[in-house]
Amino acid sequence: MDSNNWPECMACNVGGVLVPLSDFGAQGAPVHYKAWVCTNPECDFNLKIRNGEIHLGEDIHKGARVR
Ligand SMILES: [Zn+2]
Repeated sequence: MDSNNWPECMACNVGGVLVPLSDFGAQGAPVHYKAWVCTNPECDFNLKIRNGEIHLGEDIHKGARVR
């Protein structure tokens, strides 16, 4: 597993790293790196950027694929 240069997760201490997720804005424009999520499924630490504000540790919806 090559984790390259992703930042280590500070919430867990078992080697989880934060990976960036992208989303699409209201106009369909891509919003890169809108959220960061820990790769450790036991951890659930996440960070989202919304309207210029940072939201930490919100509920995430596993397995819910949004199209
Ligand atoms: Zn973590």
